[in-house]
Amino acid sequence: MPELNHKTLWQIQKELKPKAEVIANEIKNRDDYNNFMKFFDFLKDNKLTPRWQSVNKWSVNYKSKLICHISINLLMGSGAHDDGWRVSNNGFIKGLLVNEYDKYIINDKLKEFIWDNIKFPPCSCKPDCKGMQDIAIMGRQFGNVCRCWPISFKNPSEDRLAYSKDWIIAVKNFITDFKH
Ligand SMILES: [Zn+2]
Repeated sequence: MPELNHKTLWQIQKELKPKAEVIANEIKNRDDYNNFMKFFDFLKDNKLTPRWQSVNKWSVNYKSKLICHISINLLMGSGAHDDGWRVSNNGFIKGLLVNEYDKYIINDKLKEFIWDNIKFPPCSCKPDCKGMQDIAIMGRQFGNVCRCWPISFKNPSEDRLAYSKDWIIAVKNFITDFKH
């Protein structure tokens, strides 16, 4: 089947729609892989299923809102290269970050985790990402935060994995209460 040779990775994955846990097995650092699988199992326990979106990228939706985006190997941050897994949140959570954090994010350690994982340009979300200026995230002022993916964390260590899960729960609760 010579035409196979002409297929791009995107075309191949579009047909196969590989599962995140299968591609994750290619993560070279086994600690990062094991942590990903713990995160993945946590999603599964909460009935959250990553759905293939693009090459090595999956979206996790809840009530048709993006609860998080997962990428493996092809990272979106600056200095992106083949080094594990990343979880990102799109601009939908702006209301959670700016106005309603007191309701959903009550743990100070979780706040620190989120502040530590704010995404600033330059980033590969799009070539000309200009950020979103002057946003108060949980009461602390930041400038030039990425407007596409304001929160993005990569390869959380085992001791920070709990906060990444708490964060997903906070977003899930925010979506549950979200009024159109
Ligand atoms: Zn950006």
